[in-house]
Amino acid sequence: MGRRKNNQTSMSLNNAQHQATKICFNDDDDEENSNLDDSIVATEKAIAMDDVTMSDPNGSFVDGGDDDNTSADYYFDSYSHFGNMQEMLKDVVRTKTYQNVIFQNKFLFKDKIVLDVGAGTGILSLFCAKAGAAHVYAVECSHIANMAKEIVESNGYSNVITVLKGKIEEIELPVAKVDIIISEWMGYFLLFENMLNSVLYTRDKWLANDGIVLPDKASLYLTAIEDAEYKEDKIEFWNNVYGFDMTCIKKQAMGEPLVDTVDQNQIVTNCQLLKTMDISKMASGDTSFTVPFKLVAERDDYIHALVAYFDVSFTKCHKLMGFSTGPRSRATHWKQTVLYLEDVLTICQGEALTGSMTVAPNKKNPRDIDITIKYSLNGQRCVASRTQHYKMR
Ligand code: SAH
Repeated sequence: MGRRKNNQTSMSLNNAQHQATKICFNDDDDEENSNLDDSIVATEKAIAMDDVTMSDPNGSFVDGGDDDNTSADYYFDSYSHFGNMQEMLKDVVRTKTYQNVIFQNKFLFKDKIVLDVGAGTGILSLFCAKAGAAHVYAVECSHIANMAKEIVESNGYSNVITVLKGKIEEIELPVAKVDIIISEWMGYFLLFENMLNSVLYTRDKWLANDGIVLPDKASLYLTAIEDAEYKEDKIEFWNNVYGFDMTCIKKQAMGEPLVDTVDQNQIVTNCQLLKTMDISKMASGDTSFTVPFKLVAERDDYIHALVAYFDVSFTKCHKLMGFSTGPRSRATHWKQTVLYLEDVLTICQGEALTGSMTVAPNKKNPRDIDITIKYSLNGQRCVASRTQHYKMR
């Protein structure tokens, strides 16, 4: 994963303005005005941020001293792996957006009861406490909850933040209702690992009538890319391995969406909004859907794959805030999700690749996602029509 060249630093302002989504990360600690309307400013700042030296994105595992977990515990409790937490915290697009949302909208938090669903190290709870929340309940099911307790104590917030270890579906809260639910629940392809359902459960059980959910909007997008080199390397490789046919593995590999960064120069078509979810209103069943798409080629090229990505927004802020995980935005740890097509499509500028995408949690394991793509191209140089099934696991 992650071996593609990601030209984020060379992103032109022009390109940034042409993004399907106007949501843009703003690395801005102090200023009140942030984001959407100032996308150019935000883009310039995002580019400047690329100068910041980031250490190993995979993080390094540090032995926790008197930690008595075995490797099996870590396998089933991957979030308590410090490297995992570190990767998320070092994702500045992610973490700084939450920080800015909280610090630049203190009016939302002042004297409010907050519930942090999946608190991890407690970072979002700490932001909320610092912003003036009356009390924050930080619920975390993995072993990292013990660390969160220590972190809260050593930072002097024990009187404001209560860390509760357990699944949100199983714990008891000392209050009947909360004013704010905050969570960073998004998975690869937005919905992988299905944590959204836990947030919806929490909303229905504990959110006060006039309460808010942060973030409250999430949208999924689709585009198409030229990807000959990487497809050859990752997929066609199995055709002939030292003279042997290993195409059975190729079939398997084709069915697994690849989480990876895509260079914006690979994009051949428009980026289409597939689905917007309103976290404050939607039902859990709304994570299963079929939506049509129409991707129009912006140049003559070949299409090897479809690429999905998402953005999230916080519409209750004084000014709309959020971030995008798209190929034209600064890279995040979510990267993008690449779905390789069986056919190599030869598409001419102006021609449309049409079809539909069906998304649903897997019936046996609802944390996995089943994706079906139907596509057809009736072009001057290429006619193709096919249905492909993918499984994210
Ligand atoms: N809020 C932290 C961590 C986000 S990762 C941050 O922003 O850095 C999501 C966290 O949610 C993980 O630590 C995971 O263990 C926890 N989690 C997932 N499902 C949960 C559930 N049903 N109940 C409680 N915690 C959950």
